[in-house]
Amino acid sequence: YDYDLLVVGSANADLVTVVERRPAAGETVLGSDLVVHPGGKGANQAVAAARLGARTALLARVGNDGHGRLLLDSLVDAGVDTVGVLVGGAPTGVALITVDPSGDNSIVVSPGANGRLVPEDIQAAGSLFQAARVVSAQLEIPLESVVEVVRNLAPESRFVLNPSPPRPLPREVLSACDPLIVNEHEARVIAGADAELGDSPEDWAKTLLALGPRSVVITLGARGALVAVRAGERVRVPSVPVEAVDTTGAGDAFTAALAWRLGAGESLAQAAAYAARVGAAAVTRAGAQVSFPTAEEVEALCCASPGDDPRAPGR
Ligand code: ATP
Repeated sequence: YDYDLLVVGSANADLVTVVERRPAAGETVLGSDLVVHPGGKGANQAVAAARLGARTALLARVGNDGHGRLLLDSLVDAGVDTVGVLVGGAPTGVALITVDPSGDNSIVVSPGANGRLVPEDIQAAGSLFQAARVVSAQLEIPLESVVEVVRNLAPESRFVLNPSPPRPLPREVLSACDPLIVNEHEARVIAGADAELGDSPEDWAKTLLALGPRSVVITLGARGALVAVRAGERVRVPSVPVEAVDTTGAGDAFTAALAWRLGAGESLAQAAAYAARVGAAAVTRAGAQVSFPTAEEVEALCCASPGDDPRAPGR
């Protein structure tokens, strides 16, 4: 394989401002000076994986504009292969992000060029699919294109989906997921409005597994994650205690790390334990891509944390 990971997804310019509290409907609040970061879940996951050392390619679309150039530069700087990044057709996608002092955020996305990454673009990238051990996707591109991703997977490659922003998914997509990676909100939407999700993450996993995925990972923020496979295994993955500065990108860092470690042959529980360290490192710094750690930084974080077991899986 030429690539450990092929990420298919969005690339956005993140426009970030810090507010005292996030505005209610109809309310205006003042924010700090605007900061522009490269972002979008696809680009974020590609940069996160490459920074950890994974050989990574991104299949995405950006506009022929300044934001598009910002994204291409950041991808190249991180070591991502941009041969699959298409240019033009619409303005680069934009995410308007407000961060409050607790580190929680609210986001509005204007998809722009991400909405023009069409099924024909996926088909035309067949050689990238043949060259990738693991393929990951999210839902910031058209759903028809995600369906096309599943249809283009090479027989031996593994598919990881983080369905964000969430919406109900066809069985064809759910059945290909190994794993489906969701937080609580995403789990509720994927399960469907009428479904009883249950009380505990273990219940949520059971409900989701019944929809077809081979495995499910539920991320629980500072409470870590739960790993569940169809065969019955359930493993709680503890988080690494850190001071949260900005949770933007934690899920992307977690997903990228997990996808990469799975491709390296680790079990889902081992890969999730490593991903929890990467997610924790990402929340200690502001922004999305700029907050993603190198493998050395993950190692340092793990060893500096009291109570963390250096013999734990994933090292
Ligand atoms: P986002 O959409 O904000 O990027 P998410 O909701 O998809 O994130 P989270 O559950 O918030 O995903 O975070 C992913 C993983 O990162 C968690 O499972 C956990 O391992 C790690 N993580 C997140 N927040 C913290 C935190 N405050 N302390 C330690 N680890 C964290």
